[in-house]
Amino acid sequence: MTIVGGGLGGLTAALALRQRGLRVTVLEQAAELGEVGAGIQTAPNASRVLLGLGLRAALEEIHTEPLDQVRRRWQDGSVIGLTPLGDFCKREYNAPYWHYHRADLHKVLLDACLDEARPGPVVRVRTGCRVVAVDRSNPARPAALTAAGERYEADVLVGADGIRSGVRDALGLPDTLLFSGEMAYRALIPGDKIAADPATRWLVDRFQSTIWYGPDRHLVHYMIRGGEWLNVVAIVPCSPEVERRWTVPATVDELADAFPGWDDRVALMLSKAEGDVSAWAMYHRRRDPVWVDGHVALLGDACHAMLPYQAQGASQAMEDAAVLAEELGAVPREGVRAALTRYVARRAKHAGMVQDAAWRNMSLYHLPDGPEQRARDERLKRFDGESDV
Ligand code: FAD
Repeated sequence: MTIVGGGLGGLTAALALRQRGLRVTVLEQAAELGEVGAGIQTAPNASRVLLGLGLRAALEEIHTEPLDQVRRRWQDGSVIGLTPLGDFCKREYNAPYWHYHRADLHKVLLDACLDEARPGPVVRVRTGCRVVAVDRSNPARPAALTAAGERYEADVLVGADGIRSGVRDALGLPDTLLFSGEMAYRALIPGDKIAADPATRWLVDRFQSTIWYGPDRHLVHYMIRGGEWLNVVAIVPCSPEVERRWTVPATVDELADAFPGWDDRVALMLSKAEGDVSAWAMYHRRRDPVWVDGHVALLGDACHAMLPYQAQGASQAMEDAAVLAEELGAVPREGVRAALTRYVARRAKHAGMVQDAAWRNMSLYHLPDGPEQRARDERLKRFDGESDV
């Protein structure tokens, strides 16, 4: 099994396949494995996959559990609605809703891939290994060819190489990426800076995940590393430069100025960001049910990149990983094609629904004040009173 890409999707797949006794090589172009300095949420669907991989003890060390998610109005921070998370998710879905620093989650997955004490063959991880082509001259043994001239042949080649997947291109699939016109600022704010200021302390007291809704833009923030950092994702209309370059460094001032006219506490909070701030153009992939061709399969952003307005991109990749391993783990070599067909049949429709829901959230979150916004806010109230805070 060869997996191109050692991101959260690729490593989850490697671990899940290893757990089924399969030999896996991960080829990653970066010189060092890692993740961007930002937070990530896993809803119960993804937490269930991670726990199923035997990672509970490691995840207990690195997670932060939000008690609920509060939805606030842009102008004054007034509460529109409250969605219970915490114990509610464990009770209702039998799995937790957790937040992490991405680097911590990535390291947990990598350590488990490399842990000799675990069952199944240790995953081979090759860094600095950029795949430049896929050779399918032997359809049953596709090979990844690297920039350094190496060849990695396997029964199955998995493209977990992200939104601009080269493996996808090698399959000759159509370009289904759609630019949203929006960008995300990503930043971290030290938790102690927030706690030291009475105007922002309320954010840290109740490990609460927050979404602010406003015309044209929205803001998400939640604590990671037990309150060491507040992770911020600020969605605003995209600048031409970010649209052209996809990801660019940004400044704290730019971030703090990104919400003119909003509740003053927003700019105050954002002005406390430290370290790297970056701006990312937001893309969505139109639903495309073709994830597999012969013995080559796609996974994660390579086949279902979505706006992060459901916090589900990596989570869907983790679900892909679990299903791929279930299907491939049980078959002999001659059953690979049918197993991959079942993988797509089990996953593509569901991931497509999540892609579409995330896209719809763009207009829903960004409604201008008026009747539609008021109707949305009425609907969002329905969880009130169920919070476990
Ligand atoms: P990637 O993470 O892009 O990994 C692809 C890997 O492949 C990279 O390591 C890359 O270097 C490597 N690669 C690429 N090309 C090659 C090549 N030719 N050869 C070798 N290696 C290659 N999702 C959630 O579930 N929860 C959230 O809370 C959440 N929040 C988000 C917030 C923001 C602002 C954004 C932008 C996204 C968010 N997402 C979230 C989505 C999530 O980040 C992505 O869906 C997820 O990281 C995709 O994982 P992946 O493994 O498919 O791809």
